[in-house]
Amino acid sequence: MTSQINTTRKINKDVKLDQTKSELIKVSTSFYQRGWMLGTSGNLSILIEENPLQFLITVSGKDKGELTEDDFILVNESGVIARSNSDEAISIGIASPSARNDTSSVKPSAETLLHSAIYKHVGAKAVFHVHTTNSTLLSMKSGDKIIFSDLEMLKGLGLKTHDVKITIPIIENSQDMKYLATIAPNYINEDVPGLLLKGHGIYAWGKSPQEAKRHVEIFEFLFEYRMKELALEKM
Ligand SMILES: [Zn+2]
Repeated sequence: MTSQINTTRKINKDVKLDQTKSELIKVSTSFYQRGWMLGTSGNLSILIEENPLQFLITVSGKDKGELTEDDFILVNESGVIARSNSDEAISIGIASPSARNDTSSVKPSAETLLHSAIYKHVGAKAVFHVHTTNSTLLSMKSGDKIIFSDLEMLKGLGLKTHDVKITIPIIENSQDMKYLATIAPNYINEDVPGLLLKGHGIYAWGKSPQEAKRHVEIFEFLFEYRMKELALEKM
């Protein structure tokens, strides 16, 4: 009986993993087509289990315009490859079925620890990270934050009115992801579902993958708005 329950649980989880991979491929393709995840840049993840924390994330070094179901990996809160079931085989997207238990051929995105820190800190269900031109350039031209107010599009971040002021934090970039994951939660503003890494890109999250995608789009609108505003001021 117990093994039957375990088998059912594993099948359900495998179905969920497959659906999540399809969802991530759709988001990735959409972002790639808009030039927000060019080359192998950026990484996307969706929560699979809250406790213990497990999320599916893009593997390192894959072209974001050509992701397949083999390009995702299930990891735990330490960014280590997780098992789909505590006593079952590892269930991750890897190159071939024969390699299912050989995890040496794939590794999670280098920025997995930052995703983990965000999941733990804000209780998000999805975390999307893209390297857009606007977010990268604007972060280089700003100090430790960017402020927006009075824009109708701010409501897309879950705010009730345009009549607000929001602050998007900017953190100095680093190749030490452990360090970034440790300090990032200190900068997160509870009302703003995103943060910028200087000269690098934006992290946005949401209570669902749809919401996280919307937040990326709203942030990108805001950054483009500010870029054009700055250009106008120089005319
Ligand atoms: Zn990045």
